[in-house]
Amino acid sequence: MRKRSPNREIKPQQCRECGCTQGNACVTVSGTCGWAKEDLCTACDELDQRGARLMFGELRLLNLIRCTEYFHALDEWSPTDWATAVAGEVGEACNLIKKLRRGEAVHAETIGKELADAVIYLDLLAARLGLNLAQCVQQKFNEVSKRRGAPYRL
Ligand SMILES: [Zn+2]
Ligand SMILES: [Zn+2]
Repeated sequence: MRKRSPNREIKPQQCRECGCTQGNACVTVSGTCGWAKEDLCTACDELDQRGARLMFGELRLLNLIRCTEYFHALDEWSPTDWATAVAGEVGEACNLIKKLRRGEAVHAETIGKELADAVIYLDLLAARLGLNLAQCVQQKFNEVSKRRGAPYRL
């Protein structure tokens, strides 16, 4: 991981995208961010590449840490609480899709945000049940591939 270059100027560096600074760096699975450009941190610069290779394993790691540090302990919510949260987000996505069906203008990105919330909660529900969602998806995906005679394996 690239280290932040020492500040030569008096002006403190700040990322134009996320507003992070040297003293308040972003944390990704590969460590804290550095500077990709004068005013752009590596976490923001590598956003697309990271998104493309994002696996549930990476989601789990930071999802659990963030939940515990910024929300509450995982165990503070029962599996039912987490399941309700998943259903709530899926419901919100369905509500937007219902509006689409009625001819209202709904951006796909808006639906994407609700679907993302659902996946994030789903991972926490799995964590609460002691399950590794990445492994569950991998095993089930491969199981179905095998059953259908498809060559695809995760
Ligand atoms: Zn940034
Ligand atoms: Zn950053």
